[in-house]
Amino acid sequence: MSDFVLSPLGLAVLGLCVGSFLNVVIHRLPQIMWRAWWRETAEFQLGDSLAWTPVFGPLPQPKDSFAAAARAIQEALSGLATLTLARPRSRCASCGHVVRWHENLPIVGWLRLRGRCSACKAPISVRYPIVEGGTAALFAACGVVFGAQPSTLLWCTAVALLIAMALIDLDTTLLPDSLTLPLIGLGLVGSLAGWTAVPLSESVIGLLAGYLVLWSVSALYGLLRGVQGMAEGDFKMLAGLGALLGWKVLPSVVLLSSAVGAVVGLMLVAFKGHKREVPIPFGPYLAGGGLAALFFAETLQSFWRL
Ligand SMILES: [Zn+2]
Repeated sequence: MSDFVLSPLGLAVLGLCVGSFLNVVIHRLPQIMWRAWWRETAEFQLGDSLAWTPVFGPLPQPKDSFAAAARAIQEALSGLATLTLARPRSRCASCGHVVRWHENLPIVGWLRLRGRCSACKAPISVRYPIVEGGTAALFAACGVVFGAQPSTLLWCTAVALLIAMALIDLDTTLLPDSLTLPLIGLGLVGSLAGWTAVPLSESVIGLLAGYLVLWSVSALYGLLRGVQGMAEGDFKMLAGLGALLGWKVLPSVVLLSSAVGAVVGLMLVAFKGHKREVPIPFGPYLAGGGLAALFFAETLQSFWRL
């Protein structure tokens, strides 16, 4: 049984199911985070009189309007139905039709519905089956590259985290700590347990270097242009890739991501009239560079030794 699960075919099946769950994560995690942000804004930030005087000095604090705003936010929040990754069941965004189990089957469900809601015929994004198929393909690739051993599941987990980060960043420009920090942990634990063949020292240096490289680029960019080009989530994501793959692979990851990012960025500016000041999320490119490095680490490293 475990032989089948760890074979490329078994991992592809696992990837279909994980991809289906990733669709839920990509869709709901930002909403869950935004709700938490509103809750905290109402509870702490609007209620925190301690922070007023150090910033605004003797200016009168508009306590009443703050309290009213906090109450309005809390009331609006309490009117919402509970939202977690597990609940409620998936619904059609247009008509609220509860998606039945056979409509929810990875890829097959979407194909049988021909990409439309069974109740209201509103189109269902083709991204859902693509995420499912893509996760399955990458999981199978992990099986081929890393072989039928339990540590292959660690690489599959990293792949799943990267897919979720890439698409959430693309949609919202958020890179949740709840995804970047597990990637860091996965890298450290993987090398500590000897599952990734990356020595712990290289993993720790990779973590620090990954964070500091992007932090420095961002700080420099900030000094030159007076705007922030990258967010902390990007630093943590590259820190995660550094912890997972070791510092030696980082130059390849950064170069690959920047090259693809620059080409796509220029194309967006040229063809779509994308304003240069609007930051383009870097997460999808980091994920792409990270995935390439994950599968081709040795080939890429031999490049640098020339
Ligand atoms: Zn519908």
